[in-house]
Amino acid sequence: MNCPPKLGVQADPLTHGTPRCVSRVTNVEAVYRDHPALQLRGLTKRYGDGTLALEDFDLEIPAGAFFGLLGPNGAGKTTLISAVCNLLRVTEGEISVFGEPHDSLQARSWVGLAEQDINLDRFLTVRETLTYHGGYWGMRDPEERADELIEAFGLGHKSDTRAPRLSGGQRRRLLLARALMHRPRLVILDEPTAGVDFELRQELWRYIRGLHAQGTTILLTTHYLEEAEELCDEIALIRDGHLIARDDAAGLRDHFGVARLQDAYVKAMAS
Ligand code: ATP
Repeated sequence: MNCPPKLGVQADPLTHGTPRCVSRVTNVEAVYRDHPALQLRGLTKRYGDGTLALEDFDLEIPAGAFFGLLGPNGAGKTTLISAVCNLLRVTEGEISVFGEPHDSLQARSWVGLAEQDINLDRFLTVRETLTYHGGYWGMRDPEERADELIEAFGLGHKSDTRAPRLSGGQRRRLLLARALMHRPRLVILDEPTAGVDFELRQELWRYIRGLHAQGTTILLTTHYLEEAEELCDEIALIRDGHLIARDDAAGLRDHFGVARLQDAYVKAMAS
């Protein structure tokens, strides 16, 4: 494969190793290595109606981590993600992505978000959903990349179908494909497997693991503790807008003196 002078060849996890051109610029690599993927300092969000969703929240997620964010309904997980992705204005605090302010164009381009709500444009086909997203990020090869993802997510027979005519599982796949379209360094998945069947869950896990193995940082929220235990190398437990504990699954079990992550979770939420 021939790449332009500043680009090198790297295998793509989504296309089972099909090579693609990637940046070889050393200072970009240094940025990924030398800065945490995500850093939150003193993050506070008070909504207009007075609800305090996050309070003085600090969190650092290392580059390359597979990080789980767990907490009950209303704990502040989606608020945190929305703040990182510039979908809401924070009340106080700082957020940086690989060392860059989260609202800079550079930081925005490094993040890919698959939201909890399936927010697909009902008038766009599968292919258009992906190519428009690529166009938004100024990609020069959106069609080629869209084809790769359509293939990788098994949507080939639906590529000209509009979102309302897709099944729930197909919409989930498209949502994830769209989040990956511009090749983000930090992928944020807000309950990606909520309501999906066993088979699709296994498939999504495989994709996400493949991405992570290639160096992509993953931030995952889930209510499935076994999912967090299976996938994440670190887990943060949050409740009422505060960080309660953070460790790997074994560390959390030790910390709370229990044998199962479920019991650690229950203890953490009761403390
Ligand atoms: P879930 O697991 O149910 O998705 P979550 O941890 O993602 O919950 P958030 O959606 O971040 O929780 O909500 C945190 C708190 O902020 C909740 O009390 C919620 O009611 C409140 N909240 C969220 N969005 C708004 C809003 N737009 N206006 C006012 N309050 C809000």
